[in-house]
Amino acid sequence: MARKLKLSVDHDVCVGNAMCVTIATKAFVLNDERQGTPADPDGDTEELILEAAENCPVAAISVVDADTGEQIFP
Ligand code: SF4
Repeated sequence: MARKLKLSVDHDVCVGNAMCVTIATKAFVLNDERQGTPADPDGDTEELILEAAENCPVAAISVVDADTGEQIFP
């Protein structure tokens, strides 16, 4: 079974280029300020979520194991 992930986006640095929502279409959505925001962490595979995090141009995305608290990205 896939591990549970906890996603967060630092809105102080997000520039709203929508890369995350393009790659992981369920895990991230754009909020009213057009910034990436965590949505459904179970909606995409871990691989896609990590790809989204890696492709964020300002490294605004953090991914943590929801059960153990282990930092997965960055
Ligand atoms: S990829 Fe990064 S900068 Fe772009 S919308 Fe998502 S969190 Fe914001």
